[in-house]
Amino acid sequence: MMSTHPPCPQCDSLYVYHDQNQLLCPECGYEWNPEELLAQESIIVSDANGTALAEGDKVTVVKDLKVKGSSMVIKVGTKAWIRRILDKKDHELDCKVDGVGEMMVTARFVKKACG
Ligand SMILES: [Zn+2]
Repeated sequence: MMSTHPPCPQCDSLYVYHDQNQLLCPECGYEWNPEELLAQESIIVSDANGTALAEGDKVTVVKDLKVKGSSMVIKVGTKAWIRRILDKKDHELDCKVDGVGEMMVTARFVKKACG
C-alpha cells in the first residue's frame, strides 16, 4: 500500500498514518498536525526596502556587518544567497555569503538583488 502522507519530519519514516487531525509516526512516535507544519513554513521576512524575501533569493548586503567571533567585516555590496529563512527576530536568514561562507544574517541589512 502506498502512503500519500508526507514523510515524518522527525525521522523521515514513510510509514506515517492519520489519526483524526494528527499524523502519527509509528517509528519514532512523533505526532504532528500537517496544517500547523504548513503554517510554519510561510515565514514572511522583509529586506531593507520592505520587499519580501524567499528561500533561494539572491541578496546584497546594505550595511557593513561584523562577523561574530572574528575581526572580519562583510562589506556593503557583498552578495549572498538565502539558503533558509528561520522564524526569529533577527539573524533570520541562513545565507551563503560570497567570500565568507555560511552565515546568519538579519533580513533588514540586505536587499533583494535583481537578476
Ligand atoms: Zn518518525
